[in-house]
Formats: sequence, structure tokens, C-alpha cells
Amino acid sequence: MSDPAALARRYGTPAYLYDLAQVRAAHAQLSAALPRPSTLHYSLKANPHPELVRQLAELGCHAEVSSTGELDTAVLAGVPAPDILHTGPGKTPAELRHALSLGVRRFSVESAAQLRLLDEIAGQSQVRVSCLLRVNAGRGAGGKLRMGGVSQFGIELDQLLAEPDAFRGTDFAVVNGLHLFPVSGVDDPAALLETFAISARAARQVAEAGFELAEVDLGGGFATPYLRPGDPVDYRVLRGELESLLDAELPGWREQRPRISFESGRYLVGSCGTYVCAVTDVKANGERTFVVLDGGINHLGGLSGIGRMLPTRAAAEILTSRAESSPKVPVDLVGPLCTPADVLARNLELPEVRAGDLIAIRNAGAYGLSASLLGFLSHPAPVELVLDGGTVRSASAIATVRTEVHAAQDRAGAMSGDPN
Ligand SMILES: *Cc1c(COP(=O)(O)O)cnc(C)c1O
Repeated sequence: MSDPAALARRYGTPAYLYDLAQVRAAHAQLSAALPRPSTLHYSLKANPHPELVRQLAELGCHAEVSSTGELDTAVLAGVPAPDILHTGPGKTPAELRHALSLGVRRFSVESAAQLRLLDEIAGQSQVRVSCLLRVNAGRGAGGKLRMGGVSQFGIELDQLLAEPDAFRGTDFAVVNGLHLFPVSGVDDPAALLETFAISARAARQVAEAGFELAEVDLGGGFATPYLRPGDPVDYRVLRGELESLLDAELPGWREQRPRISFESGRYLVGSCGTYVCAVTDVKANGERTFVVLDGGINHLGGLSGIGRMLPTRAAAEILTSRAESSPKVPVDLVGPLCTPADVLARNLELPEVRAGDLIAIRNAGAYGLSASLLGFLSHPAPVELVLDGGTVRSASAIATVRTEVHAAQDRAGAMSGDPN
């Protein structure tokens, strides 16, 4: 990447820098770990910046979206509608109509009621849609952020097998696939393989219960360091193992009966991003040293409200050569918000920091800005620079604008530009 300090000085701080070369490298590494043939979806939740989505679409990724905003971004970034999978619990009639109007025909369905709703909405437009039943089949031992098991997501496998007729689908909402996503961020390939084995076995059971499966989306769970030093996990050992697993459980898969697909957010974009902010003040209160930055949980780590914070071994560094030579001292990195929750890191060992220094936090490309508290305290959004090697491809910032609302229908239209 070109010199982040020079870029931050030129465009101002706080700034996110995203390097497309890193996106391509992560994509190549993950692709090498997946069975062939299979499809990889990029989950826009991790970072919906349109240029990242466009890059991943150019590399052949399909898109997994779970809101009207993510859907619109995927379409604008050039993802063909047939390559979009619309997921998420509690999709509303307005969201479904909007998706249909853009040509989306593949939906992950989370309950029998959602299946009936999709049938009704698709029927009104006289179109057929493919429904992938989101199924909870359990998970292996690994995984930090667990979405399988008993949660608000999906349909329990036991329930599906006990009452298959509640999920058979209709003329308009054709049930012809499964969507499994039990884990996130599993950094042990063996543990992840165990989870895929549970999911593949569940798919075989569902097929044996008489469901026609055109697609089995095995989800993901691929890990990459988040705000810590290090590289994306190397999963290349998985490819052969996954191919054998699929030969055993879903023997038609090589002829795409069913088509096998995967999803990843963090792995594809986590390593491409660096958050750069400036030190506005350094102060000692009691025993502690606080380094005050011009950006905080409004831009990064907004999920700290649920206990996430920069690890003590954070990938944070001072972009000032002078500082590297001094001995390290523990500091708390705090942001500009008027709340004691605005802490990016505690007891982080850094060389001497002064006001005016620039701090860079690496591996911040996923769940950075979009998972943060941008609206809180009304600071401006950071500039987002998209780089390709040494070239700046774009520099932009999100603007939030208050608009007048006259009636409920207005809101879907305002977000989507959809006249319905
Ligand atoms: C969050 C989510 C993803 C992306 O997860 P990562 O851990 O970022 O790869 C993919 N699919 C579904 C259904 C999700 O909810």
C-alpha cells in the first residue's frame, strides 16, 4: 500500500484505507481452499463499500445481502441479479417486493411463515423464486461467534424432518435448496471441517426426506485477524477434505446436483483495511495514560457495546518514525465521544505518543465502519480511500441526510428508489 501517513495527511483523518490488491490476495487464498465446482458469495454485511463489492464481483463472487441497502449496493456494483442471494430473518413485504423488482430470485427462508409470505408476494408478481431453507443442524466444537444451535435464525433440522410438509414450497416459492450458516470466525481448519461435515450430513438427510436440492449453501466461518496483527488463516488443506466429504454425502455435487456454495464476509475484506486517526491529546489521569484520537467507536469497533474492544495485542502502530525508537508504555486509546464507552483499547503497549501523531490500526476492513456507531454524537464519517497498490481509486465519505417522511411507503422508496 502507498504510504498511509502521506495519504492521511493529504485526505485528512480519520480515514479508512482499503487496498484492492489485498482483497484479490484474500480471495485467491480462499478460492484455493474451496471444492471445485463451487460458488463463493461475498456477504456485504462485513463491508458494503461499493468498490469492494465491485472488485469481488469481478473476481466471480456472488453476493449475499440481507437488507434493501445491501441489495441496492450489490446491484449498483454490478452484481447480476441471478447471482444475489437475499438472506435474513423477518423480511418484510416491502423488502421482498423491492428485491423481486430488481430481479432477485433466490431467497434464504427462515420459517414456514416467511415461506408463505414469499409465496404470496411472488404470486402477486407472477414470478417463481428459489427458496433455500435456512436450517440449523448444529455445529462442531470450534467457532467464537455462534449463530447455529438455538437462536433466532433458521429452522431446526429436527423440526424440518418431523414436519416436512410445512416446508414443501409452492408454485411461486419453490423450495429447492438449503442454507446453513452455523459459525463465524473459526480459525482451526479441522474444527471448520467438522462443522461442514455436520451441515453436509444434514443436507443428505433433507434430500432423503424427499426435498429436491438444486443448491446447498454450506455457509462459511472463515477467520482472519480482526484488529490484530497477522494474516488471513490458510485453509488450503480443506479443499481435498471437502471434496471427499461431498462425494460421500452429496454424490451428485460434481455435476452441480446440488450446486455447492459458500459465504464469506470478513475473510475477503478484513485484511484489506487500515483505520488511520490522529492523536488530538495525550493526558495522564491518575496512573493511566489516555491517548485521545479523532475517531472512536463511532467509526471502529462499535460492537464494543457488546464487549468487543481492540485486543491488547492490537495491530495498532504509530505512523511516525520518531516514535518507534522510544520504550513502550501502556496507554488507553480513546475516541472523541462523550461517553466512557468510547475506548478502542486498554493497556496497549505503544512507544511514546504525542498530539499530532497518526495511529494506524490494521486488519480493520471487515466490521469496521458499517458495524459502528456512526450516528452517535454526530461526528462526520471518516474518509474512505480505495487503493490499488499505489493508486488511489476513490476517496469518498458517507453523508447522513435527514429527509422528510410523509407516509410509511415513503421510506422503502427513499432508500431504494423503488416506485412501488
Ligand atoms: C454474518 C454472516 C455472514 C458473514 O460472516 P463472516 O464471518 O463475516 O464471513 C455470512 N452469512 C450469513 C448468513 C451471515 O449472517
